[in-house]
Amino acid sequence: MMSAAVPTEKMKAVQYRAVGADPEVVTVDRPEPGPGQVLLKVTAAGVCHSDIAVMSWPAEALPFPLPLTLGHEGAGTVAALGEGVSGFELGDSVAVYGPWGCGSCLMCAQGKENYCLRAEELGIRPPGLGAPGAIAEYMIVDDPRHLVPLGDLDPVTAVPLTDAGLTPYHAIKTSLPKLVPGSTAVVIGTGGLGHVAIQLLRALTPARVIALDVNDEKLALAREVGAHETVLSDQHAAAKVRELTGGLGAQAVFDFVGAPPTVATATACAAVESDVTIVGIGGGAATVGFGSTPYDAAVRSPYWGSRSELIEVLDLARSGAIDVHVETYSLDDAPKAYQRLHEGRINGRAVILPNG
Ligand code: NAD
Ligand code: ZN
Ligand code: ZN
Repeated sequence: MMSAAVPTEKMKAVQYRAVGADPEVVTVDRPEPGPGQVLLKVTAAGVCHSDIAVMSWPAEALPFPLPLTLGHEGAGTVAALGEGVSGFELGDSVAVYGPWGCGSCLMCAQGKENYCLRAEELGIRPPGLGAPGAIAEYMIVDDPRHLVPLGDLDPVTAVPLTDAGLTPYHAIKTSLPKLVPGSTAVVIGTGGLGHVAIQLLRALTPARVIALDVNDEKLALAREVGAHETVLSDQHAAAKVRELTGGLGAQAVFDFVGAPPTVATATACAAVESDVTIVGIGGGAATVGFGSTPYDAAVRSPYWGSRSELIEVLDLARSGAIDVHVETYSLDDAPKAYQRLHEGRINGRAVILPNG
């Protein structure tokens, strides 16, 4: 076994402990890596709105037991290698690929562990969404294939790319053939995911980007990161998008809210042969059918992204094309970050620094 001497000590972690309760800072045993696992000393952990959704679910809807250490966007330095692990050195700076799968089914064989065919049956869950997560001083990563070297990338601004970057990247990549010169892309919800989506669209496509959100502060960030136009997200938003596109609508619409009114806006501003991608998990559902959606419009609801796509997103960040706006918090202040996110008061992404 190649490992640093890691005494079985205590560490701080932020946990969701009881249904309906606020997240709490607690002291737990510092984990040790089992065979094939890697222990990370967490440098940075992102705070995603999905956690707020999970913490609003009733007990019967919760697919994993509590308490749960939160945080499914993680980055760290390798602190210990479990038996049989090679390919990484102690101290290496890495990002964690979060949607863990079985590693060997047809989807996993393509790197699409986000669509693993056996994860549920095998009880494999992402860190922070079933397995102990990244908002802790240390975390266990189940397999070194779930690590991507960060090199010189700053873990604080890179960590949101493991979800707030990867998820929109995966969504946008599928629609690239439609985002030709002269096309329009609409981004609904310009928060953690949305403000990265705007930048990805600008870096990867010649499309005109129209961003929708509910207040001026969010729309100002959208313009700052590259949106050509911003529109207040209300019942008139779809009509405004049509007006801005000469009546045609948008060739790709990405909804990072996914609530009933935004899904209605998303389909209402879609063009013929467009892609409508519902990424937000706000409980909305699209009405699709002849006469309801424009001719040949496709509606999709993807989940996270593949291992190779995470490598691509990090490479794109290395080229300087993505500037993630972060607000940093200590581990003790993580509950405050969740509170602010819940209130819609985070501009960009909140990032916790558990050892900072
Ligand atoms: P966030 O809170 O950072 O951003 C959400 C943004 O939407 C905010 O700027 C908010 O002002 C805006 N908004 C709220 N209501 C709106 C409305 N009616 N119209 C327009 N904008 C509105 O959240 P986030 O972390 O970026 O996550 C966005 C969504 O994506 C959440 O629902 C989250 O659960 C989901 N998500 C899905 C996946 C996936 O794989 N499908 C992955 C990560 C996150
Ligand atoms: Zn998330
Ligand atoms: Zn699998």
